[in-house]
Amino acid sequence: MITIGVDIGGTSMKAALTEPGGTVYAKTRRPTLADREQEATIGQLHDCIEELQELANAESLTVDGIGIGVPGAIDIASGTVFHPPNLPAWKEVPLTDIMRDRWEREVRIDNDANCAALGEAHFGAGREYDNFIGLTLGTGVGSGIIIGNRIYHGERGFAGEFGHITIDFNGPPCNCGNHGCVEAYVGIGYMMRAAIPLLRNASASPLHERARQNPESLSPEDLSHAAAEGDDVSADILRTAGDRLGVAIASTANLLDMTTFIIGGGISGAGDVLFDGIRASASSRALKVHRDRLVILPAALGNDAGMLGAAALLV
Ligand SMILES: [Zn+2]
Repeated sequence: MITIGVDIGGTSMKAALTEPGGTVYAKTRRPTLADREQEATIGQLHDCIEELQELANAESLTVDGIGIGVPGAIDIASGTVFHPPNLPAWKEVPLTDIMRDRWEREVRIDNDANCAALGEAHFGAGREYDNFIGLTLGTGVGSGIIIGNRIYHGERGFAGEFGHITIDFNGPPCNCGNHGCVEAYVGIGYMMRAAIPLLRNASASPLHERARQNPESLSPEDLSHAAAEGDDVSADILRTAGDRLGVAIASTANLLDMTTFIIGGGISGAGDVLFDGIRASASSRALKVHRDRLVILPAALGNDAGMLGAAALLV
């Protein structure tokens, strides 16, 4: 089966012509134009697909269908996207119908974090595991629950909101309206806002001056580089983030009897300090039956996971 997968991100959309589980024939990308009207973004989507369709024609490949990953809540049954936060002009968009009318073939859409997890299942770190939870650590904390190599959607398609698991009922406010969600600690914005006062007070840290003069320029990767150079404050911040993720991972393992977690997205690039923190926390908190079975791995596909997973929606 040959499919086209598209991942609509906040700044750019990426698309691939693939055989899920096998070959990636070609990739392309376009600006999302998220600050413009809905039709502008959908026009970019059509352009990506057209480019890959022409390549498929040139190679005599038949495209069986199109899969699209979209940030935000999606009604899987109707193929409708609801108020994606990174596409402010979109309200309720019947994206599956729009794409089917234009391309006259099978179209599936899903949440971007679900697609990233499915991409890892077909092409990446999840290939050897039939069941796992894929986490995407970025501005938000998304996840996809993969059971039997397929996305578990819940009753209406909204399952997998790992980022909004509460880890402290008196914790800081989260964008969702709750307090103490995982995302309110390890979403990039929340995490860096908490890190900056610590770095400003740490005169020995290599990030001290930047935290004072230009705090917006600091990223989790900077923390990871500083930690690797021996900065204890940066290492502590990452270890604490890992500790907090481990709390929710242990609860998830206990709830679902799923013990494999594949972690991607910006913060996951922080490497060993973060992963050691996650593993230590999760295994100290999970029920004894799960402790020795926990597998917590970095994702393998980087930014390509979403589009490759979108292509695999049709399998
Ligand atoms: Zn929340």
